[in-house]
Amino acid sequence: MARAAKAIKPIIGLVPPDPSSLSWRDMKGLLKLGQYAHSLSEHELYRIAKLVTQSSADLLEEWFELDPLKGTKAASGIIGTYLGPRSPGTAYVLLHHYMGEIDGAFRAWGFAKNGTGGVTAAIASSARALGVEIRTNAAVDKVIVRGGRAAGVALANGDELSATVVMSAADPKRSFLQFVDQQHFPDEFVQAIRNFRVRGSSGKINIALSGLPDFNCLPGEGPLHRGAISISPSIEYVERAYDDAKYGNFSRQPYMDIIFPSMIDRDMAPPGHHVMSCFVQYAPYDVAGGWDDAKKDAFGETVIATIEKYAPNIRKVIVGKQVITPQDIERIAGITGGNIFHGELLLHQLFFMRPAPQWADFRTPLSGYYFGAAGAHPGGGVMGAAGKMAATEILKDWQ
Ligand SMILES: Cc1cc2nc3c(=O)[nH]c(=O)nc-3n(C[C@H](O)[C@H](O)[C@H](O)COP(=O)(O)OP(=O)(O)OC[C@H]3O[C@@H](n4cnc5c(N)ncnc54)[C@H](O)[C@@H]3O)c2cc1C
Repeated sequence: MARAAKAIKPIIGLVPPDPSSLSWRDMKGLLKLGQYAHSLSEHELYRIAKLVTQSSADLLEEWFELDPLKGTKAASGIIGTYLGPRSPGTAYVLLHHYMGEIDGAFRAWGFAKNGTGGVTAAIASSARALGVEIRTNAAVDKVIVRGGRAAGVALANGDELSATVVMSAADPKRSFLQFVDQQHFPDEFVQAIRNFRVRGSSGKINIALSGLPDFNCLPGEGPLHRGAISISPSIEYVERAYDDAKYGNFSRQPYMDIIFPSMIDRDMAPPGHHVMSCFVQYAPYDVAGGWDDAKKDAFGETVIATIEKYAPNIRKVIVGKQVITPQDIERIAGITGGNIFHGELLLHQLFFMRPAPQWADFRTPLSGYYFGAAGAHPGGGVMGAAGKMAATEILKDWQ
């Protein structure tokens, strides 16, 4: 146990020195963590410690030799972060993108019929079948607080809805700095949420095509059009893309993850036509000089010019395109800062510190108010993990 405690000490570095300041819940959590650490071999503990502190580049260089392989894998360590593949902590982000499974296929990523909205529609339909009433286009203005606990929500249209329990699935800034008057939270908590980093770094270019682009590496229609195409020829390429963003610019040669959803779901485009979805990094939320039409056009042109190096006929098949910056993500999806995960996956914003130290168990300092979205543990992605865990905690308190 002494060996395990020594090894996890750096991981739980934020534990207050005075044990009497820990709540019973914190104590239980730490005991569980200690028990788990104790069950691991020394080798496993060091591997975990390395994995959460290393850069994705360092991790991959221990295992692989080929530049394109390392570059492509390293890119999974930067998605949704404002970091480069050589930044410490990105090995964990890489792991985040490979956790879990789909229908028993470990590490798999999947396409949803009718796009991601199809997942939401399926959840909504299942909830309705269980008697749940869902209101859309009903923006929340405030959480109503009565007698020191959350008692419902006030909508922007003036309607008020009473509730025994309120759970927010909006981002942490909205959930705690906008929906609830700050007098209901300890100053320390408010400060932690203010400091929570939510800077968006990703853009999206959606392209409508009259045919498929031909890629030099594998000419003609082929399996690559049904998979994911990563423009990340080396770790250095991705790191240089980050260099531009560090100083406030979009990447002159960006990293891209490209898919053709219409190759999987033929209903997404007219026969013979296709849609091409390009996830792009880096596009800073607060780009130097601000995002205006000219800057968005320049960003879109940079992306097309980059694709053209690999698929020279791309311009001939483009029918239209939509350029989405982090500011557009903020406006369209209602995410402060436009960060795709409601907050960066940084070491100091993960596990028991997401969204704030001591408040990572889906409860909040306001009684009856819960938090179960991507800004909570275990972070973003279309996986529903935070929501499910929050619901479990709500049910425990309800009894
Ligand atoms: C461009 C982009 C690409 C992505 N790609 C992938 C991917 O390929 N794979 C993957 O797994 N994940 C991806 N993600 C991340 C994933 O979509 C999110 O992590 C996930 O949707 C988070 O789910 P959530 O329920 O926590 O929050 P959300 O899905 O963001 O839901 C929160 C909801 O709260 C609403 N809201 C905000 N303010 C208010 C208000 N005042 N009143 C009422 N409602 C409000 C928002 O409009 C939103 O609908 C991507 C995200 C983006 C933006």
